[in-house]
Amino acid sequence: MPEYSLQLENLSKTYGHKDEENFVCALKDLSLNVNEGTFFGLLGPNGAGKSTLINILAGLVIKSKGVVKVQGFNQDRQIRSFKRSIGVVPQETNFDPFLTPYESLDIQAGLYGVKKKDRRINHILKKLGLETKANAYMRSLSGGMRRRLLIGKALVHNPKVIILDEPTAGVDIELREMLWSYMKELNANGTTIILTTHYLEEAESLCDQIAILDDGELIAYSNTRELIDRINLKIVHIKYNGILKKNFTLPKNISIKEHENKRISISYNKNDLKTDELINFFRSKKLEILDLSTEEPDLADVFKLLVKKSNS
Ligand code: ADP
Repeated sequence: MPEYSLQLENLSKTYGHKDEENFVCALKDLSLNVNEGTFFGLLGPNGAGKSTLINILAGLVIKSKGVVKVQGFNQDRQIRSFKRSIGVVPQETNFDPFLTPYESLDIQAGLYGVKKKDRRINHILKKLGLETKANAYMRSLSGGMRRRLLIGKALVHNPKVIILDEPTAGVDIELREMLWSYMKELNANGTTIILTTHYLEEAESLCDQIAILDDGELIAYSNTRELIDRINLKIVHIKYNGILKKNFTLPKNISIKEHENKRISISYNKNDLKTDELINFFRSKKLEILDLSTEEPDLADVFKLLVKKSNS
C-alpha cells in the first residue's frame, strides 16, 4: 500500500515563452506529499496556481518540470495506473445532449475499462440523487443535476483519489450537503479527497490537512487545527460605558475596531497579552466594561494573515 496518495516533487509550470511579455510562472518548484486517506484542502487567492495544479493532475495541462505521483504511480511512466487511481471533478459542465445520465456514466465506465459486471451506475446515480433521472434527456436536467453527473463521471472507476475543483461554487445548499456527506462517506472508507474551495468555512470543517498556495508557491501546509492555532490571534468584543478618547493608544501590537453603540473589537497576539491585562488597561482608562465576549480565529484569519504576509 502506498503511503502517499499524492506526491509532487519540484513541480513547475510556465505559460508562454521566457522572452515574451505574457510569460507566467504558475507553479514554482512545488513539492508536497498528501497522506493516503486525507481530506485535503488546497486554498489560495485567485491566480495562485490551483487550477493549473488540478489541470496537470487531470492531464489537461502539461507540466514544465518535476514529478507527479498518485498512489505511487508516476504520471509520466505509469500512465494507465495513474489515470485509474484518480477521479477529477472539473468545474465546467460539458455534456453530450443525446445521452441520458445512465448512458453517460456507463460509457465513462467503459472508457476506464470497468467490466460490465463491476459497474455501479445505479448505485452512483442513487448516491447523487439522480436515480429518477437515470433515463432522462440531458437537456431536461437542471444545472445542479448536471454538476451531480460530473461528480458521478469522476467516480465510475472507483478511484482511490478524488479531486474536486471548486465543487460547491454557485450550487444550492441541498447539493452541497449531499456532496459533502457522500465525500465524507468515501473518505471514511479510505478514499483520499483533495479539493479546492473559496469557502474557507467549508474547508475548515471538512479538511484535516490544508495547504495554501500563493503565487505558485506553498506558503503553508499543516493540520487544519494546528494551522489556526499557529497564528495566536485572539479577538475580544467589548461593550463599554464611558468616553473612548480618539488618541487612545493601546499597548503591544493591538488593533482596535470601533463599532456603533459603544462596541469595539480588539485583536491581539495571545502570547503578548492576557485578557486580564486588557481588562485592567480599560479600567485604568475609566472605561466600564458592560459586556465582553471572545472569538477564536478561524481559517479565514489565517488565510488573510499568510497571504498578506507573503505579498508584502
Ligand atoms: P488559480 O486557479 O489559483 O486562480 P491559475 O492556475 O488559474 O490560478 O493561474 C495561475 C497563473 O497562471 C495566473 O497568473 C494565470 O493568469 C496564469 N495562467 C493560467 N492558465 C493560463 C494559460 N492557459 N495561459 C497563460 N497563463 C495562464
